[in-house]
Amino acid sequence: MTLRLILTLLLIPVAFASAALAQDKGSVDPKPLPPLANPADPNIGARELFGRKVLPAAMPTRVVGFYAKGCIAGAEALPINGDTWQVMRLSRNRNWAHPNLVALLERLSVKAHKDAGWPGILVGDMSQPRGGPMITGHASHQVGLDADIWLTPMPKRKLSRNEREEMSAVMMVRADRLDIDPHAWTPTHLPVIRAAAQEPSVERIFVNAAIKKALCREAKGDRGWLSKVRPMYGHDYHFHVRIKCPPGSGECESQPPPSDGEGCSTGDLAYWFSDAVLHPKPPKIPPKPKPPMTLAQLPAACRQVLAAPDAKQ
Ligand SMILES: [Zn+2]
Repeated sequence: MTLRLILTLLLIPVAFASAALAQDKGSVDPKPLPPLANPADPNIGARELFGRKVLPAAMPTRVVGFYAKGCIAGAEALPINGDTWQVMRLSRNRNWAHPNLVALLERLSVKAHKDAGWPGILVGDMSQPRGGPMITGHASHQVGLDADIWLTPMPKRKLSRNEREEMSAVMMVRADRLDIDPHAWTPTHLPVIRAAAQEPSVERIFVNAAIKKALCREAKGDRGWLSKVRPMYGHDYHFHVRIKCPPGSGECESQPPPSDGEGCSTGDLAYWFSDAVLHPKPPKIPPKPKPPMTLAQLPAACRQVLAAPDAKQ
């Protein structure tokens, strides 16, 4: 088994979780989570604690751990409305990230407007105010360095709170999963994804394999950016932008850079279009769900981030 395949398999639960979640609707009047009987219990699920934090920690910016196991202090919120972006599913309170990622999303939204003619971008899940594991969806998005961007352009008007909970993104993949849906995919999608991939701080972009195939077919001129765009389960309504550990973040665990190749050959994509992936059979014995990470298992620095008072807004 190649290293790449092993890494891919490790990411499967991540992808299934976020794929299901992207379209889940929210409420304009979300019920706050009930208080925990014993929040200091070392066996309590870390996600129960992070999921109840409404604001970032009053600490200097600090990224701790790995995309799928960590937390962040000093996260910044992407404002819910910009000239060229709007944040979706506000009830989730997941529009937090490292300041570098917030700045990148703002920059990218301007490029989507200028280069692709989109009025702007719709931004889905980023991270919780202190990062960490989530009660619903995503295994990654824990350190403020991941963001989901809808493949549906922002409309020209400001969406209501209700629309931001209820509206669905458009499915980009054809019913047989072998290619994009030509009624949904447009020539403007490539420049938006390319603009993200060409950002030097971007580590990887995840898209559905059918979308990768379309990008491979359509990319003209410089194709170097294609190496950062990796096929992933789900990601047929949105693409996922992941940035590298920011400079000076000594506690941030990086991941090996993607290989140089474009990843466009039939062989590169064969796994993703195999019968086992397109039509997975349920396992005979359902795998035991992994017990969620407990408070005691968190990196010590993340326990500090949890314990810190709320940052002033
Ligand atoms: Zn994602």
